[in-house]
Amino acid sequence: MILTDFLDRAVCLYGDKRAVIDHDGGRELTYGELNARVNRLSHGLRSLGVEKGDRVAYLAPNTLEMLEGFYGIFQLGAIMVPLNIRLKPDDYVFILNHSGAKVLFVDQDLLHLIEPVRDRLETVETVIVHYREDDADEVSYDEWLAQFPAGSFDREELDENDVCSLLYTSGTTGNPKGVMLTHRNNYLHALSVQHHLRVNDADTYLHVLPMFHVNGWGGPFYYTANGATHVCLRRALPESIYDAINSHGVTSVHMAPTVLNGLLQYYDSEKPQTGTADLRIVIAGSAPPPAFIRRVEDELGWEFIQVYGMTESSPLSLTSASRSAEAHLSDEQRIRLKAKAGYPMIGNDVRVVNDFGEEVPHDGKTVGEVVVRSNGVMKGYWKNEEATAGALRNGWLHTGDMGTIDEFGHVDITDRKKDIIISGGENISSIEVESTLYDHPGILEAAVIAVPHEKWGETPHAYIVLREGHELTGQEVIDFSRSKLAHFKAVTGVTIVDELPKTASGKIQKVHIRDDYWKRHG
Ligand code: ATP
Ligand code: MG
Repeated sequence: MILTDFLDRAVCLYGDKRAVIDHDGGRELTYGELNARVNRLSHGLRSLGVEKGDRVAYLAPNTLEMLEGFYGIFQLGAIMVPLNIRLKPDDYVFILNHSGAKVLFVDQDLLHLIEPVRDRLETVETVIVHYREDDADEVSYDEWLAQFPAGSFDREELDENDVCSLLYTSGTTGNPKGVMLTHRNNYLHALSVQHHLRVNDADTYLHVLPMFHVNGWGGPFYYTANGATHVCLRRALPESIYDAINSHGVTSVHMAPTVLNGLLQYYDSEKPQTGTADLRIVIAGSAPPPAFIRRVEDELGWEFIQVYGMTESSPLSLTSASRSAEAHLSDEQRIRLKAKAGYPMIGNDVRVVNDFGEEVPHDGKTVGEVVVRSNGVMKGYWKNEEATAGALRNGWLHTGDMGTIDEFGHVDITDRKKDIIISGGENISSIEVESTLYDHPGILEAAVIAVPHEKWGETPHAYIVLREGHELTGQEVIDFSRSKLAHFKAVTGVTIVDELPKTASGKIQKVHIRDDYWKRHG
C-alpha cells in the first residue's frame, strides 16, 4: 500500500463531500475536485521532468496548495521535502542543496525568503510560485495548473518501502537532519493514529500545526483516508484559531502547548461565548503543563489528548487517549494520567532503558532513555550515516528523551537528555520545574535551563514571560518554586523577558535561551 491509496479511498467513498476549506482564502473543494487538481499537478510536474525518486520541496504555510502537493508528488513516486517557513535564507540553501531538490514550490508571501539565495541553489531547476489571482503581474498558480489535464494520472510503480518524504528535524538541539520516511512508515502510522484519535468521516480537522512539521504532516493522511474535512489556516494566531473552529464546526485540533497557551489567553481576555461546541478533542505533544490540561478539560469542556513522538518515528508513539477507561478516575487522577505522555500506540514497542540497554523497573520512578521500535521508525537520516548509526541501534530508535514507565506501561517523559539539570549529583527534570512554574497565576511562559553553580555543579535557572497586568520579581519566582518543589529542584536564578525564542511549530528553543544566558553572564 502507498499513500495515494488514501486519496483514492476518499474519492471513491466521499467524492462529493467537502475535502478542504481554505479559511483565509474562502475557497472549498470536494474530494473529487481536490483529486482533479492533484492530477493536474502530477501532470505538471512530469512535464518539468520530475521522475520517481526526485525531490520536490515546498515552502508554504497551511494552504490548500500545500495539501494537494502531497498527493501530486506521491503519484509520481517523487519525494516531498517540506520546508519550515521560519528559517533563515542560509538554512534554505543548506536544506535544498543537501536534499538535492529539483523543483521548489513557494507561497507568494514567502518568496522574499528565497529570492536572495536563488543563485546559491545548486540543484533546483524550477521555482513555482503560488501566485494568487489578485497579482496582476504574474501568471496565477491556478492558471499554471489549468494547462494540465485533470484526468487520471498514469502512476509510477512504487514499493511501500520507497521513501516518500525528507522531513528535516526542528533543529531544536542543533543542525536539522533529513529524516527519510517511507510510504509504509506513514500509512501504518496513520492507521494507528486514526484508531487512537477515533478519526471518522464526521470529523473536521483544523490544520494549526504546520504541515511542513512532522506533527502537522500526518493530518493529510489520516483525515483524508477517513473522508474528513481539512481546514487550512495560514497563521496560528489565537483569534484566527477561534474563528476557524467556530465558523467551520471543527471537531479536532492539534497544537503545540505554546499555541494552546495563546488560545487559553484569548479566552481569558475576550471571553467568547459562541461556538466550539463541535470541538471534541484537543491534541498536544511537547510536554504540555498540567495547568493547561486542567483548563482545557474543566473550563472549556474539551477532551485533551497528549501525544508523544519525534520526526524520526513519523512521529507519534505514545498517547494518553483513553476516554472510556477514565470513567472510574477522580479528577485529580485523570489530570495526572493525561499529564503523562501515555501508553504505546498500536504498532509501537516502547521501552525505557538504562545506559547498558537494559529495561528499567516498571515502577514509575526509575528514569532511563526512551527507545522505540515501530512501523513508523524512519529508514535513516538522508546522507548522514553517522547520525543514523547513532539513532538506530539494534532495531531500536534511541530518542534522546528520558522518562519513566509504570506498572501499566504508561510512559512519563521527564526531559530531553540534553536538558536535564544535574545538581549535586541529583537529576532534575526541567519539564517538572517548568510545570510547577506554570501553576503561578502571573507566569505566562517558562523555560528552565541548567546553569553552572560553584557548589552544586549545575542549578536550574528560569526564563519567564509574565502575564499582562502582573508584576513579579525574580525573588518571588524563586520563593514560589521553593514552596512547591524539593529545594534542590527549585530555581536559583530568574531572567524575566518579553518573549521566548520558538520554532515554527511553537517549541521553545532552549539552545537560544542558553546563548542568551551566556551573553548576559559570559
Ligand atoms: P532536533 O531533533 O532537530 O533538535 P526536535 O527534537 O525538537 O529537533 P521534533 O522531532 O520536532 O524535533 O521533536 C521531537 C521531540 O519533542 C521529542 O524528542 C521530545 O523531546 C519532544 N516531545 C514531543 N512530544 C513530547 C511530549 N508529549 N512530552 C515531552 N516531550 C515531547
Ligand atoms: Mg530531535
